[in-house]
Amino acid sequence: MHQFITGHSFSGTSGKSIDVINPATSEVVASVGLASLADLELAVAAARSAFPSWSRTAPGERAGILQKFARIVEERADEFSRVESSQTGKPLRLTREFDIPGTIDNIDFFAGAARHLEGKATAEYSPQHTSSIRREAIGVVGAIAPWNYPLQMAAWKILPAIAAGNTIVLKPAEITPLTSLMFAQALTDAGLPDGVVNVVVGDGHTVGAALMRHPDVDMVSFTGSTAVGRTVLEAAAVNAKRVHLELGGKAPFVVFDDANVDAAVHGAVAGSLINTGQDCTAATRAIVHRSVYDEFVAKVAARFDSITLGAPDDTAADLGPLVSFKQRDHVAGMVERARGYSKIMAGGFAPSDGSLGRGAFYRPTLVVDAAPDSEIVKDEVFGPVLAVIPFDTDDEGIRLANDTVYGLAASAWTNNLQRALRATREIKAGCVWVNDHVPIISEMPHGGFKQSGFGKDMSAYSFEEYTQVKHVMFELDGLAEKDWHRTIFTLR
Ligand code: NAD
Repeated sequence: MHQFITGHSFSGTSGKSIDVINPATSEVVASVGLASLADLELAVAAARSAFPSWSRTAPGERAGILQKFARIVEERADEFSRVESSQTGKPLRLTREFDIPGTIDNIDFFAGAARHLEGKATAEYSPQHTSSIRREAIGVVGAIAPWNYPLQMAAWKILPAIAAGNTIVLKPAEITPLTSLMFAQALTDAGLPDGVVNVVVGDGHTVGAALMRHPDVDMVSFTGSTAVGRTVLEAAAVNAKRVHLELGGKAPFVVFDDANVDAAVHGAVAGSLINTGQDCTAATRAIVHRSVYDEFVAKVAARFDSITLGAPDDTAADLGPLVSFKQRDHVAGMVERARGYSKIMAGGFAPSDGSLGRGAFYRPTLVVDAAPDSEIVKDEVFGPVLAVIPFDTDDEGIRLANDTVYGLAASAWTNNLQRALRATREIKAGCVWVNDHVPIISEMPHGGFKQSGFGKDMSAYSFEEYTQVKHVMFELDGLAEKDWHRTIFTLR
């Protein structure tokens, strides 16, 4: 499978191809013929021509297709999880218990939500008129996804868009395209009309950029780095498209002095190592009260040292590799630079022995004594690295939590009600957990503050992105001469 346009799969016509590599073993999993700009034109035209009839289907019909689709993905769950693991190196345990069930739940949620698109009551807000609200699909959505959760990111883009009656062209990350293509095929198998969902596998700088500025694309929805997100915003400005951006993160994990330290330690290990740290909400900055700092650091370091790395089918493996050697080198480079100004309490190297030496593995790494404005504390690592910094007062803890350009997610660890309420109110992030870090649910929105972007994925709030509100106003009296005409002209 290479490209999926108008319900059919075919090889891209760019003359270039990309090898999809399992980063745990360096084996080539598939070779995908990349899309040309001409292929992109076909995909956008397919989405454009499918829009009028899809946007007019009854919500119940859209829900029926999505319900059938959920059961198809459920039946093929094992295949989806194997392919997802093979293109990312994730342990099968993670894809079987997190990525695939999460995706199925998301499909079920949007199958139901498709039937709950509501507006304001029809009423007379002026005595001479009846007003009502129509909530309408926007048109053709151009969506771009990253490689960290390829299937879930495809789901988060496609489901709210089509549930609301839009059509879509999705460009997955070129290094992890396989499950997005399977997803589109399964939608067709569930009865989705041709052209409603199209997947174009192409290079970000050419095909991705062209999709973002395409004049026939009405809205762009981008998940990826803040740097590329800025270029998306510029491209979308050309024809004033609606934009939804889910960008980078640098989540603070604030441990107050009254916290259950063992719970915070478990939370920090799971929250920072989830998906080998390649998670935009991952805990990356543990901001820990000085009274519990030493205990926290010692316990997290011990846990990090006990983590087992391994390939997807290694049942003993806790953690997989980074998605690519390029990403591993990026992580290793940041840790090497941090060595000069901080202390590495665990990890800090890529294992080279045995089978691990063939993969893009990197040991879970704990960094202490780094200044709050140093690179490892400020910038996105997107790998299994946690930096810990101490604080003395609640004011300082909250200030440090907000000392970042990002604002996607955060957590506060405390058993004190007032502290918890203060943290949830004052930390500037799209999600603040109390005494946990990472869980997401289909019913609740996910999205950033500050340079983590704007707009929401999942939940009914995502329909705010993928629909537009129209005011419809009926004049009631049937008079030729309306009262307000006096302000413009005098009737003779
Ligand atoms: P990236 O920005 O390099 O790439 C993301 C996607 O953009 C890929 O499909 C890529 O091909 C495409 N792309 C690259 N250059 C482009 C261009 N000039 N125009 C249009 N498209 C282009 O990000 P990545 O390395 O794939 O993913 C990691 C980043 O994604 C991290 O910063 C992470 O925080 C972020 N992320 C955010 C969320 C969220 O919900 N906020 C979720 C997952 C990942």
